[in-house]
Amino acid sequence: MSAEPPPDIAGNLAAVRRRIAEAAGAAGRAAADVTLVAVSKTHDSAAIAHALAAGQRVFGENRVQEAQTKYPELKARHRDLALHLIGPLQTNKVKDAVALFDAIETLDRQRLAEAVARELERQERRPALFVQVNTGEEPQKAGVPPGEADAFIEDCRTRLGLGIAGLMCIPPVDDEPSLHFALLREIARRQGIAALSMGMSGDFALAIRFGATHVRVGTAIFGPRPAAVPNGRGA
Ligand SMILES: *Cc1c(COP(=O)(O)O)cnc(C)c1O
Repeated sequence: MSAEPPPDIAGNLAAVRRRIAEAAGAAGRAAADVTLVAVSKTHDSAAIAHALAAGQRVFGENRVQEAQTKYPELKARHRDLALHLIGPLQTNKVKDAVALFDAIETLDRQRLAEAVARELERQERRPALFVQVNTGEEPQKAGVPPGEADAFIEDCRTRLGLGIAGLMCIPPVDDEPSLHFALLREIARRQGIAALSMGMSGDFALAIRFGATHVRVGTAIFGPRPAAVPNGRGA
């Protein structure tokens, strides 16, 4: 016996899209300037198929291995599907990540950036690259500390020749997220970076007010995840 009815993924998606349009409108922005990244971690291919049927094409996963079990087949069937890596990336998985993902949102250290640069020379693939900033300076969380972000971005660009499309952050759970969104926006402004990936199920409307171009929404679309997989961790 299942305890809960299956989530209405198409209905949830419509509601999230409506809220994105409202938040964008309130900020004087176009809804089309905000990309909804549907975070499908822990959810199976059947759930993802419901989202695809409802027109969703951009998805996020936080583990390379889990994405490899679900997405190659879906990508073969939907050529316009775009997959974002939103979890920490180990250097030994860079080859697989570059092969599968269309965006890597979690560049956060020199050795990883070097490994990505090497892999881009070997593969024909050009995933969009985002630098993750640990805006809350939490020791357990991935991301470049804010004080080192400018130097890291400049090193990626000049020494490694990497184009940096965007910045990404995951605010501390107990903090006022707007402080973190504003900090990320300020670093992006200084560096001339266009994309800002910020905002999750609980705060994406606020993030859009602060200029988010990508919101990463899981629970509000697919329903609750098993408790064993905490936000923002994984390979
Ligand atoms: C899981 C996850 C999300 C989505 O979180 P929800 O609260 O379910 O919307 C967003 N960003 C990252 C990095 C995640 O790991």
